[in-house]
Amino acid sequence: MNIESALTSVVGSSNVLTNDDAAPYLTDWRGYYHGSAHCVVRPSTTDQVAQIVKLCAEHRTAIVPQGGNTGLVGGATPDASGMAVVLLTTRLNQIRDLDLANNTVTVEAGCILESLQKYCKDHDRLFPLSLAAEGSCTIGGNLASNAGGSQVLRYGAIRDLTLGLEVVTSDGQIWKGLNGLRKNNTGYDLKSLFVGSEGTLGIITAATLKVFPMPRVRHTALVAVEGIEHCLALLERARAAFEANLTAFEVMADVCLRLVTEHFPDQHLPFHELSPHARWYVLLEIADSNIEDHVRTSFETMLGDAYGAAEIVNAVVANSIDQSRSMWHLRESITLAQAKSGKSIKHDIALPISRIPQFVDQMGQHLSKEFPGLTIMPFGHLGDGNLHYNVASSDDFNPEKLLQSQDEIYLAVHDTVHAYGGSISAEHGVGQLKRRELKRYKTSHELNMMQAIKSALDPLNILNPGKLL
Ligand SMILES: Cc1cc2nc3c(=O)[nH]c(=O)nc-3n(C[C@H](O)[C@H](O)[C@H](O)COP(=O)(O)OP(=O)(O)OC[C@H]3O[C@@H](n4cnc5c(N)ncnc54)[C@H](O)[C@@H]3O)c2cc1C
Repeated sequence: MNIESALTSVVGSSNVLTNDDAAPYLTDWRGYYHGSAHCVVRPSTTDQVAQIVKLCAEHRTAIVPQGGNTGLVGGATPDASGMAVVLLTTRLNQIRDLDLANNTVTVEAGCILESLQKYCKDHDRLFPLSLAAEGSCTIGGNLASNAGGSQVLRYGAIRDLTLGLEVVTSDGQIWKGLNGLRKNNTGYDLKSLFVGSEGTLGIITAATLKVFPMPRVRHTALVAVEGIEHCLALLERARAAFEANLTAFEVMADVCLRLVTEHFPDQHLPFHELSPHARWYVLLEIADSNIEDHVRTSFETMLGDAYGAAEIVNAVVANSIDQSRSMWHLRESITLAQAKSGKSIKHDIALPISRIPQFVDQMGQHLSKEFPGLTIMPFGHLGDGNLHYNVASSDDFNPEKLLQSQDEIYLAVHDTVHAYGGSISAEHGVGQLKRRELKRYKTSHELNMMQAIKSALDPLNILNPGKLL
């Protein structure tokens, strides 16, 4: 029996997609990677996933797991050989349990992040992972790429939120590691190994995750500042004032906001116009379980003090939930606006926070000198030391030039990041995009250990081959 027929016997013919039906799953979100596959298979239970993996192992067929296909490094796209099976998790989407006393939720891998957030909110709990793709990305994809987003500052990345996992391993066995334990010192931390493994070590089918009491109030402000060093001064001030209640600290170069308002004319800045003195904008948010007025007053006082110390140029504190949403909408539209405006080169980098101003300064000078006309449009999660240091074409640096210079630009940015003690992937993962570069920046000792783990858990190399390692 060929692989399609074997898979049909597991999930039924309507859940084995081929030809045009399979096409949407063979290209990545950015339209950079185009692959081919035997078929796309859509299981709805963990047992079906296990049977699919067993069949693929028997047929020595590669499996490419895919959730919402919003990843930005080509990790969920098969190669061009047409020999892989794409395993789509979106039908495996039940929320199995919410344990209010333990503050945990157990959810299947294909559940959309926004659906989980909403479910928890309806039960007066917060599931804090939040990112611009939350309307279509899945919990399994979030786990496999160790997603971060805008609330890492307070709650950590998804690895920090994960207490237990259920995983189908490469031989088709099910590891039932779902538990809600906050302490469990019984040897190697297997769950942490699968989180961030980008589908190369096992298929995640469910997870037990931490949830939190719902904050009673949130205060959001959009702040204009002159330079990146002022963003850092404001971060220090906000941290000192609010400690763990500071939930988000996002930065955007002015050019990013211009791009958003240009591509989405229905979006407006809360200021009359962008200040000519401000080259950066900060979106910061505090959340508190205390609903008293003094929380807002303290927030405004902190911003007033920052203004007095010449750290900020202007600030607007949201007066309503709608205004807060509009501020977040501006921030979350940057990736979409960059996608609409044509080709850009994305660098998802992490640096020690203290070194970011020096990096931005040095990198900006270098790129402007070597690639005059290139548009530099960084934004990101400054509170986590994570910048999306993206660059794009302009009237003076056309898209063809950008394409030709792509490798040189990647190298210049990533070599500098490495020299600053940073990481070339903060939250998007490695996928196909950074696979070659991983070898440049990891030591052979690190790569050997990673390869040993891969060989032990996937000796036939059928799980997402050609990704990460
Ligand atoms: C507009 C936009 C904004 C974004 N903002 C952020 C951000 O702020 N922070 C952030 O971290 N990311 C961000 N991303 C990247 C992306 O949304 C996240 O990486 C997300 O977690 C991917 O989830 P997904 O379900 O779409 O995964 P996919 O793209 O389907 O897959 C991602 C990787 O996980 C693997 N995988 C998927 N499901 C499973 C599974 N069940 N078991 C094993 N492996 C699996 C795939 O093979 C692939 O390697 C953004 C993307 C977009 C388009």
